Amino acid sequence: MCSACDSPTSARLTVRAAAGEERGSHREQREHVAALHALLVSNGLVTWTAGNISERVPGEDLFVIKGSGVDYDGLTWEGITVCDLDGVAVDGVRGPSSDTDAHAYVYRNMPEVNGQVHTHSTYAAAWAARAEPVPCVLTAMADEFGGPIPIGPFALIGDDSIGRGIVDTLAGHRSPAVFMQNHGVFTIGRSARAAVKAAVMAEDVARTVHISLQLGTPVPIPQADIDALYERYQNVYGQK
Ligand SMILES: [Zn+2]
Repeated sequence: MCSACDSPTSARLTVRAAAGEERGSHREQREHVAALHALLVSNGLVTWTAGNISERVPGEDLFVIKGSGVDYDGLTWEGITVCDLDGVAVDGVRGPSSDTDAHAYVYRNMPEVNGQVHTHSTYAAAWAARAEPVPCVLTAMADEFGGPIPIGPFALIGDDSIGRGIVDTLAGHRSPAVFMQNHGVFTIGRSARAAVKAAVMAEDVARTVHISLQLGTPVPIPQADIDALYERYQNVYGQK
């Protein structure tokens, strides 16, 4: 597990202090994002304080993100910090997640992304540790990811490296999830909730394909069928 993530003792966090003042801005969105964090717990994606969710503030050059080292138990809107797109805290008493640089880089470079999730969920991180993309051998993968789940580069926390790796891997890719080598999963979405769904689905298929590999050789799905499944799921299924 990435011990640097959400470590309140990280040198980076002494540089990036919280705004230090709670003005209560964007409270409704912070309540929403705080509540979404419960889904990471209920789906077994996180341990201790690792992992985080962020969401872009509509119409403003801001996003909200979990505070660094904040417990999931009892997380409220006050555990969520408002940051600008450089990752500088502008409201909230909590220092923002130590992954804030990565989230900020993605929001600056992928304007279509409005939500992000990062976890070290077990099976996803196990694939990441081997730097092996998860092959598309399940229709659920074709639906949600449109192909394999890609591996991003090894990157150290503390600058733009992780964000750059996420953008370089996911830009132009169907998958909303990337497994960063030796680290864990980062997902993007049109909303924070969509990014949470991608994180849940990524862990689910990473587990299933892992088990399949223990039993034998998974059968690939032909590309034309992957394309058809993806198009149907993204454009028809679940539309309101
Ligand atoms: Zn991490």
